[in-house]
Formats: sequence, C-alpha cells, structure tokens
Amino acid sequence: MIIKVPDIPDEGLTIERKALEDAPFSDPAWRLDGLRLQLERDGPDVLAHGEIRATVPQVCGRCLEPFGARVTAGVDVRVAPRPATADNVELAADDLDVAFYAKDELDLNVLVETETTLALPMKPLCREDCLGLCPVCGGNRNVVACGCRDRAPDPRLAVLRDLAARRSR
Ligand SMILES: [Zn+2]
Ligand SMILES: [Zn+2]
Repeated sequence: MIIKVPDIPDEGLTIERKALEDAPFSDPAWRLDGLRLQLERDGPDVLAHGEIRATVPQVCGRCLEPFGARVTAGVDVRVAPRPATADNVELAADDLDVAFYAKDELDLNVLVETETTLALPMKPLCREDCLGLCPVCGGNRNVVACGCRDRAPDPRLAVLRDLAARRSR
C-alpha cells in the first residue's frame, strides 16, 4: 500500500489491518495478524507509531522443526525524504529508527516488512520448554522419549549434534 505523503492530513492518519487488503509481505508464507499504525507529518518527515502482529515461519533452534513464530513489532519510526546525496543525511535527534521515502510516496508494505523482520526472534524456539534433539540418536525429544542416554554417541550424528548445540546457544 502506497501512502501519498502530502495526502496525510494534519491530524494524522490511522492505518488498520483491513486497509492492507493485499498481504504486505513479499513472502506469502508470512501472515499479517494485526496492524495499527498512526502516521503523522513532522515537516517533511512522517512519524509512524503503532504495532504490527504477524506469524512468520521459523525453524526452532533446538529441535530444528519449522513452526510459525508469533511476532509483535512495536513501531516507532521517522520516515524522511530520501536525500539526493549521502552528505545531506541529518541524523534525527531522537531515538527513533529512520527510514526513507521517495517521490512523496511512502510504501507501507516495505515499512511493515522491515519492522516485522527487525522484531524476529534471535533464537527462535517452537516453545519455551522445547526439549530439542537427543544428542545420541538425533531424535526429536518432544516427540519420542528415546531413552538412549547410556549408549555411546553415533559418530555419524556428530554433525547434526554440533549444529543443534550451536543453534541452541
Ligand atoms: Zn523446538
Ligand atoms: Zn536418543
């Protein structure tokens, strides 16, 4: 969805989920669950405040199973006209993130996708108490209690085990 910056009224503009009839994400597997954004003009800039809720496919860092991560992104962004040259960039005095628009057009899809991406978990877990993979047989301990604790590790599984250990850190 494209917002024409000069069309934003002085009192601001509220964007809700239903305003984005098309999914804003380039990956169709990402789902927008909720959206509320308030856009206000501040000189040539646009201030965007609000919240995005989305479900994004992730791979669990412990058991390596894919799952849909629920993401809530708090939005607090200053969107400035894209400067003609890098020399013109004037850093915002406040702590807002800064994004850019060009030709009076603010692409809301890009804003929503960027903010959602920034809110993705660093270490995704399918659930808080995910049991991960068995270090011996590599089985998913959420699914089967393999009970192979006492057996010597299979060297063929060392690679998988290392991967799981690294990802769960
Ligand atoms: Zn898991
Ligand atoms: Zn096992």
